[in-house]
Amino acid sequence: MPENDSADSCQWRVTVYKELVRRVNNLFSSFLSDYCCNCQQVINRLPEAQDESFDLVEGVYPGCCHRGAGDIFRLEGEPSERSHLVPEIIDGLQLERKLLTQGFAADGCGGTYVLRRHRDNTLNKGAHCQYFTDKGCSLGVLKGPLCINFICPPMRSDLMQVCAGKNLELVGPEHDFLYIYRSLAIISYDHREKVMQEMANLKQRVADFSNCCRQFLAEKNSSSLYEYFNQ
Ligand code: SF4
Ligand code: SF4
Repeated sequence: MPENDSADSCQWRVTVYKELVRRVNNLFSSFLSDYCCNCQQVINRLPEAQDESFDLVEGVYPGCCHRGAGDIFRLEGEPSERSHLVPEIIDGLQLERKLLTQGFAADGCGGTYVLRRHRDNTLNKGAHCQYFTDKGCSLGVLKGPLCINFICPPMRSDLMQVCAGKNLELVGPEHDFLYIYRSLAIISYDHREKVMQEMANLKQRVADFSNCCRQFLAEKNSSSLYEYFNQ
């Protein structure tokens, strides 16, 4: 448990966590979600995709939403004592997820899919994350750290171009998009004043990053980063 917190008083950290996720979700919806809706085309840009391309033959293409991914609470790049979301936030999220997802089984959450590998025609069956539906993620602000932080290499490479010449530092290091893990470690383990300061920093980073994307789209006379980089 973080210093100076009682078990009950961790609820404010859960509230701050959800506020951070809300902001990142909005950012993805505004600028990045069409990448994930066209995941196969994006992944085909990877050099290794030349030998490892697949066709979907059954179910919904999983994108990044493989079984178990929604329950990974690791904070990459943080020191070992801060390398996971604090257990009290995890417990708070899991409790709210349980309430939210009651009855989801009937809605077809977390099914399976089958891919056919081009080079040898083999069929590969996989399982979606338990929170995945054919309309996307069902968790909203209850997503885990990996789900709001991961961007694949083609997406990262495009965003580096978007921010080049403005503020390349904004994108963050390879393991920590927008320094989200660093913010989550502070939300997990530091005192309230420092957490509030970090939330103000995070809001500013998200606003600056959004402005970079908007400016780039205006300069290129395009309405979508996905369309600009993937057509
Ligand atoms: S982040 Fe990249 S790999 Fe993951 S779903 Fe989106 S486009 Fe696909
Ligand atoms: S929690 Fe949501 S975003 Fe994360 S892996 Fe599951 S379905 Fe995908």
